[in-house]
Amino acid sequence: MDYASSLLSFLPGGRRSPGISQLLSKAESYLPPEQVERIQEAYELASEAHKGQKRLTGEAYITHPVAVAGILADLHLDGQTVCAALLHDVIEDTPTAKDEILERFGREVAELVDGVSKLDKVQFKSRKEAQAESFRKMILAMVRDIRVIMVKLADRTHNMRTLGAMPPAKRRRIALETLEIYAPIANRLGIHSIKLELEDLGFHALYPQRYQVLERELKKARGNQKEFLPKIKQAIAAALDKAGVKAQVDTREKHLYSVYQKMRRKKVSLAEVIDVFGIRVVVDSVDACYRTLGVVHGQYRPMPGRFKDYIAIPRINGYQSLHTTLFGPNGVPLEVQIRTEDMHRLAENGIAAHWQYKSGEEAGATSHDRAREWLAGLMDMQDGGNPEEFFESVKVDLFPDKVYVFTPKGDILRLPRGSTCVDFAYAVHSEVGRRCVAAKIDRRLVPLRTQLRNGQTAEVITAKGATPNPAWANFVVTAKARAAIRAYLKTMKKSEAVDLGKRLVNQALAEFSLALKAIDADLVQEATRELGFKEPDELFERVGLGERLAPLVARHLLPADRTSTAGAPPAAPLAIAGTEGLVVSYARCCFPIPYDPIIAFLSAGRGVVIHRANCPNLSGWHKQPEKWLPVTWQKHSTRSFASELKVEVQNRPGVLAAVASAIAETHTNIGHVSVVERDADTSTITFELQVRDRAQLARVIRAIRSMSEVMQIERSLA
Ligand code: MN
Repeated sequence: MDYASSLLSFLPGGRRSPGISQLLSKAESYLPPEQVERIQEAYELASEAHKGQKRLTGEAYITHPVAVAGILADLHLDGQTVCAALLHDVIEDTPTAKDEILERFGREVAELVDGVSKLDKVQFKSRKEAQAESFRKMILAMVRDIRVIMVKLADRTHNMRTLGAMPPAKRRRIALETLEIYAPIANRLGIHSIKLELEDLGFHALYPQRYQVLERELKKARGNQKEFLPKIKQAIAAALDKAGVKAQVDTREKHLYSVYQKMRRKKVSLAEVIDVFGIRVVVDSVDACYRTLGVVHGQYRPMPGRFKDYIAIPRINGYQSLHTTLFGPNGVPLEVQIRTEDMHRLAENGIAAHWQYKSGEEAGATSHDRAREWLAGLMDMQDGGNPEEFFESVKVDLFPDKVYVFTPKGDILRLPRGSTCVDFAYAVHSEVGRRCVAAKIDRRLVPLRTQLRNGQTAEVITAKGATPNPAWANFVVTAKARAAIRAYLKTMKKSEAVDLGKRLVNQALAEFSLALKAIDADLVQEATRELGFKEPDELFERVGLGERLAPLVARHLLPADRTSTAGAPPAAPLAIAGTEGLVVSYARCCFPIPYDPIIAFLSAGRGVVIHRANCPNLSGWHKQPEKWLPVTWQKHSTRSFASELKVEVQNRPGVLAAVASAIAETHTNIGHVSVVERDADTSTITFELQVRDRAQLARVIRAIRSMSEVMQIERSLA
């Protein structure tokens, strides 16, 4: 008794899918017993999960996964792929199945099944050619393991075989998707057998009339060929035998869809396409291929310009063969393909050949490794062409550095990997980027910085009058978004700098009991030119950015009779509100907050930097006294400021949480926490807090000072 039937014999009979025993014997023919056993287990799990479900064809649902697994077993794919095929629709139906698959079949099978389920969720809707290309890339970009694509292709093949049960509109949609997306993917990966079947089934479903006409004509032509073909085949085999070439000679059938495409592409009549004999010769070495070519060319006259050497220069998907067309008997063209066994297997199975189970093979090569291996093989073969260009074209598909996302309208946008919602917004339109305030991914609100993943649908919510946030510059990855945000910040900074510059000049003028408003416009223009600028705003911008000193500018603005400060009151310090924007910043050494005594330093290019008056970094101020200026806090600030507390605590379990929650109770936000262990008994916790002013900070200190674990509290100062 063979293994498959021995398995069957102890299973409860009855409602078994008829395909399963076939599948098991197929698997048994090339897989070791333990893998066949796993396949049996996968079948049991799947038939349990799909129990009671029916397909539109009226059959039990389980017949579908069994058929899909059978297609992959025909390709001799490894046991994991066949198991995944049996389980590919299980997650959809039973939510707990995912964990169960992981537990019983391991991570790889679970991920294959998960990958197929994810692919099932994206649907191709547009009919635009460019969209089809993007969609194909999106599909390939979504899978981390190329075997997911193989399961999906087999799934699609079986669904196409049973398409007749679907309502017409759905039939057309699926057929279109098959022709525009899945058949080209199968072709790209070199899986010829699946590509041909998908094309013929898709063609039949989409254009039933044209299909019927072509089929009828093709049958007629085949009838005519019946008497010639065996004779030609024999003649070639005999000639090869005489020349000492061991060869397998077969006749080839034309596929309907390729006939149809050829007619459209070359604008030729049906007769011209189908009145052709097809012969394939498979030999055992490359050398024998060329000798075969010589033999057939000696037997029938070759048609000029029709010889193609795809052995020396393979097709982009790795296809290799010699093609030639001969004048056959009665002048009927005779198309001949010549190739080795290896080339034949690759021509039929493409990338799938790399996952075919070979006994004694070491496990451990990842899917990625094998895809790379396949690519490297293709690369080697492309030596004659332009390898870089070739590699680019295949690589983008298999190892994509792009993500593909849908707009709410169903268009596909291609963005660099790592792109966020803000990048997406700018990619849609720069106005959308500028005004975006929130984003949704798959209809759920997410933070704007969220990175997009393949196949998601992204949507941007905009608001009138909204402006870009400087923080976006830290996470956007597209050049477009980056450039737009930078440009915006630059104009912002410029207008803020002009504002601050005017205030600083005003303050300096106060020493002379003057104000900018009171100074004659001509005089301002003259001083601007003297100092080397064209427009007064340019001059004020430089002052605001700390590149020009306000007192020196003020001196240029004085009327001839006002060069002395005598009698004027000392100028009031500049008032800081905290809302000046990018040209006023707060030193990270001493964390000044409102009502701290402060002083400002003019830093070239950065504008004004505020320090606390007792900051140790101020010690060098007397070296550049002209760069320091007196400042004070404006009353009623509306924003919060960063401040830092160092808290020395006793090492006890939960002490950090206790202190943090005491701080939170004062309604103070903690921006950042770090802990340094001093010794076995004590640690220092550093809290970065957001406070409005000194009063709030004092409340925080009061709240934690009374805690028994807290030994010392200190405000950070340099
Ligand atoms: Mn399915």
